[in-house]
Amino acid sequence: MKTVGIIGGGASGLIAALYAHKNGASVTIFERKDRVGKKILVTGNGRCNFTNAYMKSDCYYTDDTDFVGRVLDKYSRADLCMFFMELGLLIKDKNGYFYPACEQASAVLDVIRNAIDDTDIVVKTDCLVTDVKKDKNGFTVKTEDGSKLSFDRVIVATGGKAGIGTKEIANGYDLLKSLGHTVSKLYPGLTQIKCEGANFKALAGVRSDCELFVFSEENLIIRQAGEVLFTDSGLSGIVSFQVSHCVAELLDNKKQVLIVLNLLPGFEVEDLKNFVMSKLLLQSNMTVENFFTGLLNKKLNVEIIKLNGLKPSMLVSDCDKDDIVNAILSMQEFIVSAVGVSGFDKAQVTGGGVPTAELTDTLASRVCDGLYVTGELMDVDGICGGYNLQWAFSTGAIAGKDAAIS
Ligand SMILES: Cc1cc2nc3c(=O)[nH]c(=O)nc-3n(C[C@H](O)[C@H](O)[C@H](O)COP(=O)(O)OP(=O)(O)OC[C@H]3O[C@@H](n4cnc5c(N)ncnc54)[C@H](O)[C@@H]3O)c2cc1C
Repeated sequence: MKTVGIIGGGASGLIAALYAHKNGASVTIFERKDRVGKKILVTGNGRCNFTNAYMKSDCYYTDDTDFVGRVLDKYSRADLCMFFMELGLLIKDKNGYFYPACEQASAVLDVIRNAIDDTDIVVKTDCLVTDVKKDKNGFTVKTEDGSKLSFDRVIVATGGKAGIGTKEIANGYDLLKSLGHTVSKLYPGLTQIKCEGANFKALAGVRSDCELFVFSEENLIIRQAGEVLFTDSGLSGIVSFQVSHCVAELLDNKKQVLIVLNLLPGFEVEDLKNFVMSKLLLQSNMTVENFFTGLLNKKLNVEIIKLNGLKPSMLVSDCDKDDIVNAILSMQEFIVSAVGVSGFDKAQVTGGGVPTAELTDTLASRVCDGLYVTGELMDVDGICGGYNLQWAFSTGAIAGKDAAIS
């Protein structure tokens, strides 16, 4: 019987433990917190969006999409749903986003914990692993209190730097480096973008449907459609989360980044022009602010009026008509500059990490025999929509099984 030590009791470590146990291993989980799986509780705003109907490798930032595709084929969305259903979880598909039917992330964690409690898997909480040594018989895992335990196989499942407090330790990368792995540059992913070029303090809290375009050096780099949320320092919401990894990388490479928002997506320019022209015929006796009512959120209207050099209190009849038309058309081209992204503590995922080339398709290390790496530690991060948990669960399940049988 193989002994398997799992460092980290998060999404990937917990499923790895169950699969290693199911395949005959004697398993120990080390978790530095007082409880396992705490991050699962905050996912999906407490509802845990754990996978998606559209589960493809093009939904991931990675150095090797083929590798991601092979892993997702080996342990797919269907496999994950079957795993949860066998644990007794009812699953709901909400427009392609999969949640527990009760919409409580705690249910996902509880069914996993109940399954672990039904086994002889050893769970060591409040137990920070500080060192892992490889020797000819396997591995020695050392914890903060100085104790040492030996294992045939070790799975490093410590997660990344995202979503943890600035004072918390994210030493999984160091453990892997000490065992011969490299770690590529780390970026906060799925996070807010800090911007300049508008009065964000006045816009904070406004939500709007939009199409978002990221330009660098006049090239369109990426586009996304969805809801944007203005914050007092820039942009948040799903669309900006989806592009934040890309923005962080561009800024890191000292590139200029412009973000263009079409705040009236789905409207043709000509239709918009005709609408404004007929409005001008009927409503020129209004103030500019009142004239803009009904187009965008009131706060956005006022900001756009000001950015176009108009005053909300002016009468439309006193303005140049072209200025009014151009101001309304600029709602489809609201331009701001990206100057940064929020830190890891506010991010949902870590970009960068252990290159996939250093791992086999069963997540075994190519540089240290008997070692496995799972989840967010790898240079693979998904967009919003259940992709990161699917990645954590897929890699954990595959690694757990392989560690037990190989
Ligand atoms: C606010 C928020 C919302 C999110 N929402 C979603 C969502 O809806 N859908 C989605 O797909 N993804 C979501 N994610 C991302 C997802 O939660 C992670 O990608 C996923 O949990 C990564 O799993 P993991 O096993 O790699 O790491 P983690 O789940 O982070 O688990 C790592 C565990 O290892 C422990 N650990 C670390 N170092 C040590 C050590 N040295 N010794 C012992 N233990 C250690 C940690 O305490 C932790 O419990 C969200 C993330 C955040 C922060």
